[in-house]
Amino acid sequence: MFPDAKRFAEKKIKLIRAFCWDTKCINIKIMKKANINSREIWLEKESQHYLFHFKKNSYASKLIDIVISEQEQCFKDISQLLRTVPVQKIQYWLCDSAEEVGQKSNSPECNGITCCEDGTVNIYCVYSENMKCTGYHEDTHAVAYFYNDINSNALAEGLAMYMDKRWWSVENELCTFVYIENNIYVSVERMICERNSNDEEYFLDIDDCYSYPIMGAFVAFLVEQKGADNFLRLYSYNGTNWKVEFFKIYGRSLSEIEKEFIYYISSKKYTDNQKTDAHSKLCTE
Ligand SMILES: [Zn+2]
Repeated sequence: MFPDAKRFAEKKIKLIRAFCWDTKCINIKIMKKANINSREIWLEKESQHYLFHFKKNSYASKLIDIVISEQEQCFKDISQLLRTVPVQKIQYWLCDSAEEVGQKSNSPECNGITCCEDGTVNIYCVYSENMKCTGYHEDTHAVAYFYNDINSNALAEGLAMYMDKRWWSVENELCTFVYIENNIYVSVERMICERNSNDEEYFLDIDDCYSYPIMGAFVAFLVEQKGADNFLRLYSYNGTNWKVEFFKIYGRSLSEIEKEFIYYISSKKYTDNQKTDAHSKLCTE
């Protein structure tokens, strides 16, 4: 039902996809085929950093001022971290359904997608009574694109997940803790550095429910434990030799940094209730 990054990688234009992670599982149950009326009237409202597009009489139209103030706050936090302000306003399309997102963005159906091409960024996302895919994730991709159109899906999604903080309402760190505890942790070094037989990132082969929160927790570790300046240096890298780049910036190999990361996460103290709750929400089979 949901597109995978590999499909986007095959497209000619650069697409960074994402979903509203917190509600993805709910959406699978509630998503219905929507009746898209192509003659519907789209309105616009401009804010300091965005141009919002929404349909007349839509759910989004009733709450547009709230959406604007929430997204401007997200924008502020993201651009503060990246010390970047996009040179162009971000085009933000508030759609009724995943089907409409797919139709407007010319991509497979999904809840949210950020399309970056030739200096223009369009975010398409579902904003309805049951599904609100606004928030940090897509906007992080959008602002980060202006910082550096990085050559790593693993780090791009890790950064967006760091800003999101949670996967299916479970903190990224707790997700990673549970995966380590259940021996289903996936190595960040492998996700960042390895490529599959089609010369695509190994990260893209891993189920999102592991790869996204683990990378989100790892980016948090880099930013908060190893310094935001170092992370910004790392994120400005345009090449693909990540092992060399990590060593250059951190003075330690990525595998040593990962060992430290695993120790850091494993040392966190979670209650049995927190672990049981996380276990029930995550892919732990
Ligand atoms: Zn994403």
